[in-house]
Amino acid sequence: MKYIFVTGGVVSSLGKGLTAAALGTLLENRGLKVALQKFDPYLNVDPGTMSPTQHGEVYVLDDGAETDLDLGHYERFTSTKLTRRNSTTSGQVYQEVLNNERAGTYLGKTVQVIPHVTDEIQRRILQLATDSKVDVVITEIGGTVGDIEGLPFLEAIREFALDVGPGNVCFIHVTYVPFIKAAGELKTKPTQQSVAKLREIGITPHLLVCRCEQPLNKELRSKLSLFCNVPYEAVIEEKDVEHSIYEVPLMLQRERLDDLVCKYFQIVAPPANMFQWQEVIRRLVAPQHRVRVGVVGKYTGLADAYKSVHEALVHAGIASDCRVQIEPIDAEEVEKADGLELLKGLGGILVPGGFGNRGIEGKIRAARYARENEIPYLGLCLGMQVATIEFARNILGLKSANSTEFDELTPDPVIHLQETQRHVKRKGGSMRLGAQESAIREGTLTRRIYDAALVSERHRHRYEFNNLYRERFEARGFVISATTPDDQLVEIIELKDHPFFVASQFHPEFQSKPTKPHPLFVGFITAAHQRQHHTPLVPIIAPPISAPTAAENRAGAVAARISTRPVDAAQ
Ligand code: GLN
Repeated sequence: MKYIFVTGGVVSSLGKGLTAAALGTLLENRGLKVALQKFDPYLNVDPGTMSPTQHGEVYVLDDGAETDLDLGHYERFTSTKLTRRNSTTSGQVYQEVLNNERAGTYLGKTVQVIPHVTDEIQRRILQLATDSKVDVVITEIGGTVGDIEGLPFLEAIREFALDVGPGNVCFIHVTYVPFIKAAGELKTKPTQQSVAKLREIGITPHLLVCRCEQPLNKELRSKLSLFCNVPYEAVIEEKDVEHSIYEVPLMLQRERLDDLVCKYFQIVAPPANMFQWQEVIRRLVAPQHRVRVGVVGKYTGLADAYKSVHEALVHAGIASDCRVQIEPIDAEEVEKADGLELLKGLGGILVPGGFGNRGIEGKIRAARYARENEIPYLGLCLGMQVATIEFARNILGLKSANSTEFDELTPDPVIHLQETQRHVKRKGGSMRLGAQESAIREGTLTRRIYDAALVSERHRHRYEFNNLYRERFEARGFVISATTPDDQLVEIIELKDHPFFVASQFHPEFQSKPTKPHPLFVGFITAAHQRQHHTPLVPIIAPPISAPTAAENRAGAVAARISTRPVDAAQ
């Protein structure tokens, strides 16, 4: 078993998660089995209770774990299915240690950060390694070297490296090499200092991944190598991508990151076959079609808040050779007198998940506009609930219909708290969470889109469609196209006389990948294109990017090799 630890230096938001995920892609495509794990140094037990403004989206796993959005990258970039074992926070570590202390596990000892907290961290690395039976475990340490909260994690991985012995642990430090405009130069000093800080703790990186806006020349690479104590070839350039984050694996392959890792571990594996990813990039860079869709939400200035939704839209575009231009639309702006102007000319309207009152009337208005003007609509969780409220008010004539989340005393609670939520007091981890099955009704658009009778999707909500209203809705063309297999909970709705109005109580975005786009998103983008350009989007290739044949595999491997010569050799 081999272990890679990814740390970050100089500034946050460097894309450590992406780098770790992209390395996972490369190693997997060399035929290795990989597990990815994230350590987050904050004290929240999980990000489920944090505001999106603090943390970006909460990414939900099959087992219901509410995790950091980097876990989304891990699942989109690799074939691993993650569970709560793949995500650890300081909060969880301390909670475990304190529970042990109360249980008397430490036999009267003074409980300390070293060794008790650090041991618990190491236990979690080993446990993942043992349970997942992979060749390589990649562990990303959240935060930046120098943060007080991160110290126990760094100390733990230092000790861990000692325990498992040299040659089994590879430290990768992702750092920033800024371009100073006034000097017209890239500067290495912040990286030197960050590595010095890491070495003070007792960790010497084996590989340095340098995030930069400009390419690193030979002189800079030599300087970084000398001052940071890494071999010249271990200085890896990771320039800002031009088109898409899905270029990162190919970029790191060109820099030979995976070759260096394999060489370090003495793993013999064929070059990564990046056939599929090259095709993904081709379609992203030069697609034949274009479509513009609006995402009506609350956090328009914060792309990370709807990360998986944005990615899933892009993936659907990849499936259809179509560039998806995403317009973030502030729901509160839609509430204003001329708010509908913002929705004009869009191919489709998407209302994503959310909590709380703010902007809710704007979202309801957007759903109405989509319904009345036959604009394709995709509602996700809250997006399904607002579509329900809108239909109740404007078609069923229940003028004050609402969700009890927004109006507890509404006479028509068409959306209300789930039975199982009535007595829930604690906020953390207490929603209906994770993968649940939905049975799809025959003869519906939803059934045609999924081409399946039973699907499993991830949930994160407290409120649900109120079953007392089912008949009244269905009598007016509001189709309940999927429910839980016991028919108790409405899972998907669609509208009869509309080209594409589909909304789900779950979050399909969490299961979409660039190489495996989600059918609901593909259906939405296809309909949106039809709406915007009045031409069908053909061909839709499903599955979007077919797995290469053995012969293509070989050709792909060769092509990958040719296009991945080290930059130095190419210069
Ligand atoms: N606030 C709604 C609920 O709790 C919707 C949740 C969501 O969109 N994730 O049911």
